Amino acid sequence: MSKVDLALVGAHVRTLDPERPSAEAVAIARGQIVAVGSNAEIRELGAAAETVDLGGAVAVPGLTDSHIHPLQGALDTRGADLRDLTSLDEVRDAVAAERRRCGPDQWVLGYGLEYGVFQETGIRGDLFEDVTEGSPALLTFMDLHTAVATPRAFELAGVTGSRSFSENAEIVCRDGAPTGELREWAAVATVERAMPESTDAERYALHAAALRAHAASGLTGGHAMDGTLATLDLLRELEANGDLVQRFVVPFTIVPESGADDWEALIPHRDACGRRWRAGVAKFFIDGVIDTGTGWLYEPDTEGEGTLPFWPDPSHYRRAVSTFAAAGFQCATHATGDRGVREALDAYREANAAPLRGRHRIEHIETLQPQDLPRFAAEGVVASMQAQHMLWCEPDRSDNWSRRLGAERSAPGRAFPIRSLRESGALVALGSDWPVVRFDPRLGLSAARLRRPPGERERRPYDDEALDGLAALEGYTTAAARTIGEEDRLGRIRPGFAADLTVFAEDPVDSDPDDLPALPVVLTVVDGEVVYRAEL
Ligand SMILES: [Zn+2]
Repeated sequence: MSKVDLALVGAHVRTLDPERPSAEAVAIARGQIVAVGSNAEIRELGAAAETVDLGGAVAVPGLTDSHIHPLQGALDTRGADLRDLTSLDEVRDAVAAERRRCGPDQWVLGYGLEYGVFQETGIRGDLFEDVTEGSPALLTFMDLHTAVATPRAFELAGVTGSRSFSENAEIVCRDGAPTGELREWAAVATVERAMPESTDAERYALHAAALRAHAASGLTGGHAMDGTLATLDLLRELEANGDLVQRFVVPFTIVPESGADDWEALIPHRDACGRRWRAGVAKFFIDGVIDTGTGWLYEPDTEGEGTLPFWPDPSHYRRAVSTFAAAGFQCATHATGDRGVREALDAYREANAAPLRGRHRIEHIETLQPQDLPRFAAEGVVASMQAQHMLWCEPDRSDNWSRRLGAERSAPGRAFPIRSLRESGALVALGSDWPVVRFDPRLGLSAARLRRPPGERERRPYDDEALDGLAALEGYTTAAARTIGEEDRLGRIRPGFAADLTVFAEDPVDSDPDDLPALPVVLTVVDGEVVYRAEL
């Protein structure tokens, strides 16, 4: 039997290992990198079970998305793809086409709506009543914090007016009647409950297909951002069936209505793991999104909103953070607004307990107060950033996000301050937040380097906060590994490290960032297994 399972030769290997920054070949055995060197050195190890000549392609450490919803996302992207549609007519056409695809009484679903579509009409469900021909419809926005339902959907769900929720959610009403807009999940769920449930087998197939698609884009894993005990069972099932073609860290989502008993029940599962996944993270939302006024701000936004936290009692959030931090969990908090960011930083400081693995982290950080920026480096909190979220933003601040915040809070250095945070010494991890935006890491790398959509070369970037090619790659590799405390095992191509590699036709660091989205993925290797191979 050969000692080497997989030999990759004839490559340009960018290892991100300071001791040997570049090489030609890599040998892999039992899921680990066992040698990195010249083609001759790797061939000297003896014949491998499989040898792939990469013909000059470029291997980098496996790309890890530091903020992704890999399982839930597969369920949230059913129905019409409404992403990138910018006019109400286009959306109505897409919904009409989806209606024709569906059975007569079937729910019409769609995802990826942009807020700008409703600039003139406001968000209203009746705008889709004719194109859905009386079928119920539920369309979600790109950030998944908001949805719009048609009158028929409300009728089936028995929703006739506003309700109160234990979190900052709202069935938006005008003159006492629902407009169709549903803010935050609790409100969306009132309508979702009326939808027929899909079967376990249907859901499993969606999950498995999504993970294959992730592998094909060059991803080798991610920091999942939602989860329950049931998620761990799903991961076990995927792994047992050979369908877990990504490596994940998976959190427990801690909701505001949970209490000390619920938290205690999760703590014994801290070290739950499989070969390619583990638990050990607690995920919180301290706020929602700037675009609808649910991001938590010190001063109201220009629509008079944004002053409410997602947890009605923030001290309850701090207690939850302290409980999980004291139990060794890594805490991750979604915070988009300046107040949300500071409350999360304060909660971590008050908890005063480092996680067993990695560091506490804040997700998104879309705007912050200048005095809070140095706290990330000083207090060892990871800044988990998603550059694709700002591709909707216009440098002249005419977009919904910038207008909501106003000039001061969307000012350079405060709006998505990715490079400022990095230069301050903070650990900056990059991710997509799929299904909020596309999961493709080439788009994420491109967005971090351009701060404008790729291909729109005449458009100015949103502020001088772009990363260079190497810093962007580090955000998806070494920084992702350090974030979860696995820098001695992941994020570099080095003997003894896990065999997670991504191979591109050309170097993603030297590539023109406008061309990155089209850069072919040649091979994706996870845990020593080839999980994607381009047809050559
Ligand atoms: Zn998210």
